[in-house]
Amino acid sequence: MFALMTNKEIYRQFLHQLEQIYSSLEAMTITDWTFETVAGVKRSDLIKNPDQVVENKIILQLNSCLTELMQHKPIQYILGEAWFFKMKFKVNDQVLIPRPETEELVQLVLDDYNNKKYSQESGKILSILDIGTGSGCIAIALKNNLTNSVVHATDVSEGALEIAKENALNLKAEINFISLDFLNENSWHQLPNIDIIISNPPYIPFEEKKILDKNVTHYEPHQALFVTDSSPFIFYEKIAAFCKKHLLANGKIFVEFHEDFAIQTAAIFEVDYQVEIKKDIFGKDRMLIINKK
Ligand code: SAM
Ligand code: GLN
Repeated sequence: MFALMTNKEIYRQFLHQLEQIYSSLEAMTITDWTFETVAGVKRSDLIKNPDQVVENKIILQLNSCLTELMQHKPIQYILGEAWFFKMKFKVNDQVLIPRPETEELVQLVLDDYNNKKYSQESGKILSILDIGTGSGCIAIALKNNLTNSVVHATDVSEGALEIAKENALNLKAEINFISLDFLNENSWHQLPNIDIIISNPPYIPFEEKKILDKNVTHYEPHQALFVTDSSPFIFYEKIAAFCKKHLLANGKIFVEFHEDFAIQTAAIFEVDYQVEIKKDIFGKDRMLIINKK
């Protein structure tokens, strides 16, 4: 589509095409991100050098990105990168793209623990378990922000664990990755006792697949997103059962859940714990902080 064109012309056409399937703001964010990553051209460069002619090689790459974008493929999978907690993670079709709501879940833990009580001087080592680690985003963000911690992270997907390990290496976070099916209670003996259990498990009932965006259902791993319609709370039920034996005194659980099921998800923990429901930045019920009574 593009040939012998300037920065400004290509940018405008790219943006214009994307506006057919994304809001103006999303289209602009994606265009800026693509130009910076593929062409090394920031918005400020565009303003300074609008009439600079773009190399053919770059034009071809931009064309190929645009073709995939117009098929609703998420920009993160096209570029192979996603941002979480100001860190760049490698992503591919084996892992969920980290979400801003999940950054809020991590922040809840940090608000609670990143204080003097657990600072380097106190010598207290926190053990943390991330269930369903995907790209490793939660585990890595916690390890890099809570220095006195030992972090364990599980997933059933070998493809996800491969990416998570790569991210941990790149981002210099020492994590103990454990490959297991958390729904199988016989695998729990592989896990130690824990101070903080955190999870963003699959929580979308399969029934809702038809109302989700194409960029989610066509590209993100279904194993990361969906639960069966008959057992939509299975991960929370298993986490509650696991905690009976594995959560240490004064331990806490932090989970993300489906915005429509705050009451049902909280009820699973309320028998044994104090439960606080937290909203995300979009004002939706999204996270539980669960304390021992
Ligand atoms: N923690 C990542 C995040 O917040 O971006 C990924 C969350 S994704 C919603 C859920 C993760 O749980 C996926 O990586 C999926 O592979 C994993 N998972 C699904 N079933 C599992 C099981 N039975 N045992 C362990 N992990 C599982
Ligand atoms: N919040 C994600 C979405 O909207 C789903 C994450 C999950 O199932 N845990 O697609």
